[in-house]
Amino acid sequence: VVASDSAERVMQAIKISSLDELAKIKDKSLICHQAYVDGKWVEATSQQHIDIVDPATLETIGSVPDMDTGDVKLAITAATRAFASWKHTTGKERSQLLRKWLELITANKDDLARLMTLENGKPLAEAQGEVMYGASYIEWFSEEAKRGYGDIVPSPIPGSRALVMKQPVGVVAIITPYNFPNAMITRKVGAALAAGCTVVIRPAHETPLSALALCELAARAGIPPGVINLVTCSAKNTPAVGLELTTNSEVRKVSFTGSTAVGKLLMGQASTTMKRVSMELGGNAPFIVFEDADIQKAAAHLLQCKFRNAGQTCVCANRIYVHDAVYDEFVGAFTTLVKEKLKVGHGLSEGTTIGPMITKRGLDKVEEQVQLAVAAGATVVLGGKRPEEVAGKGYFFEPTVLVNVSDNVPMTCEETFGPLCPIYRFTSEDEVIRRANAVSVGLAGYFFSRDVARVFRVAEALEVGMVGANTGSIGFDAAPFGGVKESGMGREGSRYGMDDYLNIKLINLSLV
Ligand code: NAD
Repeated sequence: VVASDSAERVMQAIKISSLDELAKIKDKSLICHQAYVDGKWVEATSQQHIDIVDPATLETIGSVPDMDTGDVKLAITAATRAFASWKHTTGKERSQLLRKWLELITANKDDLARLMTLENGKPLAEAQGEVMYGASYIEWFSEEAKRGYGDIVPSPIPGSRALVMKQPVGVVAIITPYNFPNAMITRKVGAALAAGCTVVIRPAHETPLSALALCELAARAGIPPGVINLVTCSAKNTPAVGLELTTNSEVRKVSFTGSTAVGKLLMGQASTTMKRVSMELGGNAPFIVFEDADIQKAAAHLLQCKFRNAGQTCVCANRIYVHDAVYDEFVGAFTTLVKEKLKVGHGLSEGTTIGPMITKRGLDKVEEQVQLAVAAGATVVLGGKRPEEVAGKGYFFEPTVLVNVSDNVPMTCEETFGPLCPIYRFTSEDEVIRRANAVSVGLAGYFFSRDVARVFRVAEALEVGMVGANTGSIGFDAAPFGGVKESGMGREGSRYGMDDYLNIKLINLSLV
């Protein structure tokens, strides 16, 4: 029943023509096929290009330059030149430019969302949500730009004063992933520009169109040439481009969002010139349902938390632990919701609530995790495979629920980054906290309980940077976003976010 259900739904993907959908973008100047350096639209010196593909249809929807080290050096030089004047602008001037950019992003949100769905696959409603979420960081940092406060520290020496001031770190290299092609950029660039830094962005090679459209709007907002630069390149050129961005002495900071493995590589490279780093890396979030939880609420929140962006979010629930006393009730309630609410299809098809995976690499990983879990004794309750009808036509995987999954298989120990939902059984609070913390990463964690004392105990015991207690949602502009352990360092958004782009300077002043 499950297989035929979802096969029927996925048929929608085939009916869509990606190029026809692209043609519906009203403002065609938001479809940019060149990189953006020093305020100009440029090609790669090599004149090479890479194709951008709709992951739901595998149709090519455009191309961007395949740049290499020489092109990146030019972008860094432009950012360095621009920094000399940008750092002297007032917080208020930067605030006004960011606000203008925000207004243009908001005014063009429908076109930006459509473009995002076409290159990333997420349902249009989710893409619209991301554009507004991304914009909220530009709004937040347009306000924070005016608040680069320092301190006056009481001096131990009579007749002396000690002043602490904050200054922009300089040129920032920004490297972002494919899963949030807009917001992962605005969350960094908003903070960097507010602080007075200039940037060189290298977006994911799968999703550069959303990033380039943001540059077009930044240019229209009047953000000066060289303040934002964006280079595009293929997977093949990525290691060399990444090496340049992380070792060039003119770059003073690297801000990366992506996997822990690549984060470690980039941090190692950045250490050779002692750059500051912010690392927003992978997660493996536990989602715990205690025996005193509101079961229906927990199931509804898990649906969102797990399957948003087809499970390709760094904070999505990865391991679901449910107390023995409510296990069967919860699995029943959740499985019913998955069947009723999740409609697989092209993100631009009416009624689609879950799109394809973004890459073939991700799809293969998810399929392998299911096979290994089943080989170790797991039972697939729902889904568990690619829908047969779209074989070779798009990176779809059925929303999947599993039980009896071992604690030692990759689905449990590693980040899945796909629409798999393994539900484990536990019997005590101590046991579940030990199992929740038994991974090397610590980004987000969620739990549901109506006991106030337990809420504090568990929230404090989880080794993560962000906790959702009785909610599966955590991120917003005023809240600090980031992880602990191998999920990285630094915080994005919030009143702490701009500090990652500011150096602290002491001025010790003798008045006598
Ligand atoms: P990834 O690490 O493979 O790639 C991330 C980006 O780095 C991509 O643009 C990629 O092309 C680039 N990259 C890869 N190798 C590079 C190199 N040698 N030099 C320079 N750049 C390089 O990750 P992914 O699979 O694209 O994205 C998913 C990962 O991102 C997941 O682990 C997810 O949890 C994580 N993520 C974390 C956050 C967060 O805020 N903590 C947010 C979103 C995604």
